[in-house]
Amino acid sequence: MTVIVRFAPSPTGYIHIGNARTALFNWLYAMQNGGQFVLRFDDTDVERSRQEYADATLYDLHWLGIFPDHVKYQSQRFDVYDQAVETLKAKGLLYPCYETEEELELRRKIRRTRKMPPVYGREALALTEQEKAEYEAEGRKPHWRFLLPNFVSDPLEPRSTKVTWNDIIRGKQTVDLASLSDPVLVREDGTYLYTLPSVVDDVDLGITHVIRGDDHVTNTGVQIEIFKALGAEPPTFGHHNLLTTASGEGLSKRSGALSLGGLREDGVEPMSIASLAVLHGTSENVIACHNMLELSEHFDPKTVSKSAAKFDPDELVTLNRTILHQMDFRDAQDRLGAHGVSGERAEEFWNVVRGNLDRLQDAAGWWRIVREGPHEPVLFGEDDLDFVRAAFNVLPEEPWDRTTWKTWTAAVREATGRKGKQLFTPLRLAITGRDSGPELADLLPLIGRDAMLARKP
Ligand code: GLU
Repeated sequence: MTVIVRFAPSPTGYIHIGNARTALFNWLYAMQNGGQFVLRFDDTDVERSRQEYADATLYDLHWLGIFPDHVKYQSQRFDVYDQAVETLKAKGLLYPCYETEEELELRRKIRRTRKMPPVYGREALALTEQEKAEYEAEGRKPHWRFLLPNFVSDPLEPRSTKVTWNDIIRGKQTVDLASLSDPVLVREDGTYLYTLPSVVDDVDLGITHVIRGDDHVTNTGVQIEIFKALGAEPPTFGHHNLLTTASGEGLSKRSGALSLGGLREDGVEPMSIASLAVLHGTSENVIACHNMLELSEHFDPKTVSKSAAKFDPDELVTLNRTILHQMDFRDAQDRLGAHGVSGERAEEFWNVVRGNLDRLQDAAGWWRIVREGPHEPVLFGEDDLDFVRAAFNVLPEEPWDRTTWKTWTAAVREATGRKGKQLFTPLRLAITGRDSGPELADLLPLIGRDAMLARKP
């Protein structure tokens, strides 16, 4: 059996690192099993869904390293859902209801005072044809509920009915259908809620594994019954814990917080995001993985914990430093070029500065320093000024290499009597305008003698 997974975002905003977790779990699961990955846009809500969000989602996934085998839009499949509705109606499993929201709320209140579970009491099942006709004449349109199989012969006498499945992440799961209302599948205006189209598509696209957030655990109990009602075998399910902010808040597409696009603009590397999104909230250590293959070696659904995965976005900065520090020039080359870092010495330069970067684009600042000197004139006190001038007077002749720094500083020590910090800090400032950065021994040969002399104050 070929594993087929799907990632099913609704294109109502830009995807964030929490959505990336779901997408990556699916992608890595498919990778590990030689499977396929379907990107399905859940855009049945045509009001809120937008093509620009779908396009941005695909772009973000590519950027992250996920390349879907198929892309589907639910908005192009309404006729298929209509057929499923007819099937369910024919089986007597989808029934019309006419209650307004206020009426339902009132009923829930009454049930609570009677110590009954606040679920829908299936009053609509008792409506006569005459009563339905009267509602319709009043101008009411029905919404349609799926009849959960939680009774023996009389739906008005529901009883405990356990649906169980072996979750590839959470182990054995149970949902009691008696604790749930019959779900509304079709609204008054004929539009679909998410529940039915998702099942219909999972059947049609041959989805073998549904891996999604644990906010869908209850849905799964319901959807397993819809699969069966449509005559299909339910897929295997896996529900992962959700990433939340350090204060425990969920991430939302609407707020735009920690969106992949925003993180990209902030210079966060895709593999920093992927490493955190996959390994956080598991029993694995969060380490910087450099590619999907490496990440897939650390991904195991069984290690995912059941509680929410709170995380601190600063962890991304730490991962980013590690990723950049070890990044090969070939992998950085194109983006460096876009930041003006190119030419014969670009590779040597990259190898020297990469260990000092929080973000790849920070390399551009160092490139300017190497070629043009400090961004701002450096203001020295009188003592340091004399010292730096004396130091530049004893710069060795070329050719320069990594040993030049040692030769030079030995000569400077000899000429000025300074050593340690007193010697190094003013020289670093004179050369780079910054008090920390890449090894000066590495920078000197990149800068060269003439450009160094131009920095003499
Ligand atoms: N569109 C749903 C969501 O974003 C998909 C859930 C699922 O994977 O079935 O929550």
